[in-house]
Amino acid sequence: MDIGTRLFRTALLGLAGNRAARALSERYGMKLGASRFVAGETMEEAIAQAKRLNAEGIAVTLDFLGESVSSLEEAQVSERSYKELIRMISHEGINGNVSLKPTQFGLALDRKACEEGIRAVVNEAAGHGLFVRLDMEDSPWTDATIQIVQMLQDEGFSNVGTVIQAYLYRSGRDVQAMTANKMNLRLVKGAYKESRRIAFESKQEVDDNMRRLIKARLDSGIYTAIATHDQRIIRWVQSYTRMRAIPRSKFEFQMLYGIRNPLQRSLAREGYKVRSYVPFGRSWYPYFVRRLAERPANVMFVVKSVVWR
Ligand code: FAD
Repeated sequence: MDIGTRLFRTALLGLAGNRAARALSERYGMKLGASRFVAGETMEEAIAQAKRLNAEGIAVTLDFLGESVSSLEEAQVSERSYKELIRMISHEGINGNVSLKPTQFGLALDRKACEEGIRAVVNEAAGHGLFVRLDMEDSPWTDATIQIVQMLQDEGFSNVGTVIQAYLYRSGRDVQAMTANKMNLRLVKGAYKESRRIAFESKQEVDDNMRRLIKARLDSGIYTAIATHDQRIIRWVQSYTRMRAIPRSKFEFQMLYGIRNPLQRSLAREGYKVRSYVPFGRSWYPYFVRRLAERPANVMFVVKSVVWR
């Protein structure tokens, strides 16, 4: 990553955590181009988009946006909303599951309360035969997130899994331990600002580690979601799985709503499992800013959409 891109990314990721900027943006609704990456502000809008994607052969994982809640009341709202979302997915016959963020359930405030809220959601999902993915947030929450998922699995829930980020040095060890425990994992490159003490900085190193982690998982036969828009990695997965005769039932590709739509459709047409990560809700600001940080061209897209409005 060149110095300019690194500074740009650091500045934007700083803005993602800025409460004043977040409050201001969210007050003005889904403008500033956020609707390209966010399915809507309501559950009904998200379900409509999920149906549209399902009709194209693409499964979904729905994310009721929210993170870093500042009170346990807000965490309880997250729990109620996710339970309602699960009932709606089931009722509407959506081919989909849900993704949630532990800090949206109060991880930064009260670990026990957070665990109870997430357990209640996983339990509700189990009753409907649905899966719950705990997204991975920034590194202060890595250990706790892994421990919560492991705890739920030890309690007998088989419908829960989490995410491992290829940019962290520790991820090789985490994947090894979680694969031994037969944990369902999503592999990603990583979306947060992390220090070079704990994370690879160069794109090449992150990409190399992503391939190592994918290979370890595909070789293990434990179900894995490969979440990337990187066509070189996707092509490599296609040829590796062909060469090793790894069945397509053992993995899926995941991409974010609104990104690389033609690629999502063409993989689905070729018979691969594809899942689109569909975020919705009023708390879209930090999610949106992380998408801008991933690709400088997205900022130009936003500027144009504001100027042309
Ligand atoms: P990159 O090398 O960043 O991008 C490859 C190419 O994809 C780019 O050249 C560009 O053409 C395209 N592209 C990538 N990002 C964008 C974008 N924002 N807009 C337009 N085009 C783009 N991160 C976490 O830290 N925790 C999570 O729980 C998590 N969950 C995720 C779930 C899904 C389904 C996906 C797809 C990503 C998730 N991420 C998560 C984000 C991930 O860590 C990366 O930040 C993001 O996917 C960009 O990396 P990439 O693998 O697409 O590769």
